[in-house]
Order: sequence, then C-alpha cells, then structure tokens
Amino acid sequence: MASTETSAHAARYPAGALAFPHRDLIGIGQLERHEILFLLDEAEQWVALNRQPTKHNDLLAGLTVINAFFENSTRTLLSFEIAGKRLGADVVNMHAAQSSVKKGETLIDTAITLNAMRADAIVIRHGSSGATQLIADKVDCPVLNAGDGQHEHPTQALLDALALRHALRARGEAAEDFTGLVIVICGDILHSRVARSNLLCLQALGATVRLCAPPALMPSGIEAMGAEVFHDFDAALDGADVAMMLRLQTERMSGQFIPSAREYHHLYGLTKTRLANARPDALVMHPGPMNRGVEIDSEVADMIDRSIITRQVEMGVAIRMAALDVLTRRGRGVEGWGDAA
Ligand code: ASP
Repeated sequence: MASTETSAHAARYPAGALAFPHRDLIGIGQLERHEILFLLDEAEQWVALNRQPTKHNDLLAGLTVINAFFENSTRTLLSFEIAGKRLGADVVNMHAAQSSVKKGETLIDTAITLNAMRADAIVIRHGSSGATQLIADKVDCPVLNAGDGQHEHPTQALLDALALRHALRARGEAAEDFTGLVIVICGDILHSRVARSNLLCLQALGATVRLCAPPALMPSGIEAMGAEVFHDFDAALDGADVAMMLRLQTERMSGQFIPSAREYHHLYGLTKTRLANARPDALVMHPGPMNRGVEIDSEVADMIDRSIITRQVEMGVAIRMAALDVLTRRGRGVEGWGDAA
C-alpha cells in the first residue's frame, strides 16, 4: 500500500484491534459498516501483490491454517488455500468425504480434534446453518465461515463488494460506498447464503437491494430486512446498476420448486434482451458455479465490458488473504491487537 493510502487508511478506522474486534468471521450480520470497509481496504494490498509475478509474503509463516470442507467447493476452497499459501502459512485441507465424518464422528468431536492439532485458523464450510458457530464455540483459534447451509457466506459478500468497487473505480466512479446504486439479486433467494450475506453487506454499504425470485424461492417476510421484493425480473431490472445472478441450489431443495429449468430460464434467466431493461452500463455478477442457459446466458456471462464474474474470482483470493491476516493478528502478537492467545 502506498504511504498516502496507509495514512488515509489509519485515519479512517479505530486503532488496532478495535478496527476489527472479532475473533471469528461468521457472518456479515456481525459486522459494522466500518469493519466491512476495513476488510475491503486491507484486501487492496493483496490485490496489488497478486498482480505481481512473485506473489508471496511471509506474514503467516509458521502458522497452520486448516480448511475443513464438509460440502463441495471449487472457488472458495482453492482461494482459501492459495490465500494461506501466499501469506506463507502451512495450509491443510480436510475433505469430509475422506474424513472420519463418514464414519459417524460428530461435528463437535471433529472440532475438538482440529483444536487439539493447534491450528491457528480454521476455515469451515458446512451444509448446516449454524455449524460454523458451533465449531467456533469449541475451538481456541479464529474460525472463518466459508459457507454454512442457507445462513451466510461472508467472504463471498466481501469479495463481491471488492469486485464491484474495482469495477466502479475502473470507470472513474470513485465512490466510498454504494450509496445510490440499485442492485438486483435474482435466483434461488430462499436457499442462498450468498443472497443473505450480500443483502446485509450491500445495504450496509448504502445500496438499494432488489431481490427477485419465483414466489416459491423467496423467503417469506424478507421485506423486513429492508429489501425490495420482485417476482417479475424485467420490473426488477428496470434502471438497475447491477444484476447479480444466483444458481438454483438443488442440493438444498426437497420437492419441486420450479416447473422446469426451461420455464425458469424463460422467466428468470438473464439474457441480453432482458439485460437491456437495466442501465446501459449495468454490471453482471455471479458467485459461481454458473449454470449457463438456466439462470444466465453465455453471451451475458462472457460480456467483456459488463460481466465482472472473473474479477469476483480474482478478488476472492485477496479478501481471504485479508481475512486470514486480520483474524490472526492477535495470535501473532501484532502490536495493538492484544496479547498473543
Ligand atoms: N459458491 C456459492 C456458495 O457456496 C454459490 C453457490 O454454490 O451457488 O454458496
């Protein structure tokens, strides 16, 4: 980070651990607006490092990071692994399919086992909402939620905010936050932890969030969280600045929620024609994995000037580096962050 940026950064937040007073990162719901901005600003130095030919820093040398994934993942697992390694940590991945979980070990016993190995940070993905908090309550080190059931996926929302900020800045719109932006999140809102974390994060940063889904895939009472609810995608897109598309989370569905993928695409798929309802420069986002031809057409997903889907992936590594760095500061005895645990 350049020195002028460093002092602006220091002036903007409370000093030391007060800038981020949490041991764990369980959800966006636990964060204040300034804590979200702090993590985004911390990530900028890692965006810059990751664009260098040599992408390495020894900040976390000697520390052990365990990625315990009880659900499938491509982007999140890989980027947490890359993030830990780029910061010099020893990173170990535990895949539940090959672990004693398959032999009936309880989540609590798994947590106690990971703790006994003296990990310095544990990253958890689990199919049950609340599982990450359950593990955090049983271990001595920071726990990072990499997605728990339908609850939250905080690093996804943070990387989405960082990707959006970069895209806006690249256009010369150097706003501090997203005040004035209208962002449409469309898809399987009911089962999506990404929708929930993004709703909280984008609203904290000042955006107006429109949620759009068929009635069966919209959680009842979601208006209470301040979102505008739509069932007509064209109406939701009207004048929007961003369209964030979500996949149908079939692994969390029991029963029939939509008549067919073809009908879903007809009503809720993002096509080039439909995107024309949004602002002429509206951006397109998707957390992945994409189902091309269902929730999004290839010609939209691959639009060079409008789609920031690959930028989201890029920012994922930087955000996870920032989260690992910030959450391990207390344990590393970084000045101003409290005594080493
Ligand atoms: N990758 C995101 C998640 O883990 C989105 C998705 O799977 O649809 O929630």
